[in-house]
Amino acid sequence: MRVRFWGTRGSIATPGPGTNHFGGNTSCVELTTASGDLLIFDCGTGAHPLAAKLMAQGTKAINANILIGHTHWDHIQGFPFFIPAFVQGNAVAIYGPEGSHGSLHDVLAGQMESTYFPVELKQLPAAITYHDLTEGIHTIGSARVATQFLHHPAITVGYRVEADGVAVVYLVDHEPFSDALWRAGAEPGRVESILHDGDRKHAQFMADADLVIHDAQYTPEEYGPKKTWGHSTYEYVVQIAAAAGVRQVALTHHDPGHDDRFVAEIETKARAIALQRGTGLDVFCAYEGCELVLERRSTLKPFITAAPFQASVAQRRFHILVVDDQPDMLAMVVRALEEDQYIVSKAANGPEALRMIDARMPDLVVLDYKMSGMDGMAVTKALRARTTTQALPVLMLTAMTDEPSTRAGFEAGVTDYVTKPFSVPQLTARVRACLARTRLP
Ligand SMILES: [Zn+2]
Ligand SMILES: [Zn+2]
Repeated sequence: MRVRFWGTRGSIATPGPGTNHFGGNTSCVELTTASGDLLIFDCGTGAHPLAAKLMAQGTKAINANILIGHTHWDHIQGFPFFIPAFVQGNAVAIYGPEGSHGSLHDVLAGQMESTYFPVELKQLPAAITYHDLTEGIHTIGSARVATQFLHHPAITVGYRVEADGVAVVYLVDHEPFSDALWRAGAEPGRVESILHDGDRKHAQFMADADLVIHDAQYTPEEYGPKKTWGHSTYEYVVQIAAAAGVRQVALTHHDPGHDDRFVAEIETKARAIALQRGTGLDVFCAYEGCELVLERRSTLKPFITAAPFQASVAQRRFHILVVDDQPDMLAMVVRALEEDQYIVSKAANGPEALRMIDARMPDLVVLDYKMSGMDGMAVTKALRARTTTQALPVLMLTAMTDEPSTRAGFEAGVTDYVTKPFSVPQLTARVRACLARTRLP
């Protein structure tokens, strides 16, 4: 298998003398399997030089599979410049997560409306197909492709491609679920010692991979004020990849404010952490033009998930109960969920919530931790003690970011634990992930 980086910059294309080495184009990575399948991770501005290379290869029809993690600009802006889509006889299959605002087709057509671009999506002569994906296992050409939600202020999936006896995992854009990675008292550096369920699932998704391509936009010093923006630090990436037994990590989605010298320093620091961990993990900062050849190995452990085939939830209407004793927060959450077309009801305290659940079972409860009287933890425990509500998803909202509170939340049985401050798009992406993981009735 061959992997080549065409775009390594995050947020906005950043050309200029300061980014000559690591590159200024936004996210785009080409993967070619031994049998000739072409998979492309994201379609940022790096898709333009990639398209030129594909076109220069000759007259043979091009069959491209574009795997979009999410539809923020820096991941789709190269699509209108992907020349193979302008040629009749070529085939372009586009994959992306279900549940963004509109279907994948509509989102891509939106950025090509005549206000923004001279050619409309429907005018492109290639055979273009659209595949809105849920979490699970998919087949694309000769590759087995797993998807899993990431943590970002938009519905975002990571891709794990297994083919030719190797695994390549693309995790862009993503930020840690929890400030603390490890559980207190547990041995750090092990997947089982990871505090937050979301971070543990993230580690399991990349386990044993030959190559992980991961968002590492920030330094640990920069992260604080940019929390909730949806990006990782190199420290988090190296720690979690080492625990997951990953062989090689490519740090990418470089910040537009980081010049070549700065990114090279990040590489040095990230390598020092990897060395400390002592797992043999190789770390580098991805640069435009970087090409890797991954050799087949017989020991690859395929990714196993309890839910390999998730049903589509795009056409379902969900009912969500929001419980909070603070009127401002309650109103804000209710408004955000109503804008996302959910049926929303609200309760101002724990006992009222339990009564409402008895009267009408919701698909999800969004629950505040700290409430006077019966708190969120007590409500969760009451729900888990009853057979009818044992499996009801509970998303807990809390300002308690400390390790014991996070642990107590998961031990009480919360499905997800969201710490304040959060942004509305971040919350609605987490709600969507919770709902997508619930089984259809
Ligand atoms: Zn991005
Ligand atoms: Zn993004």
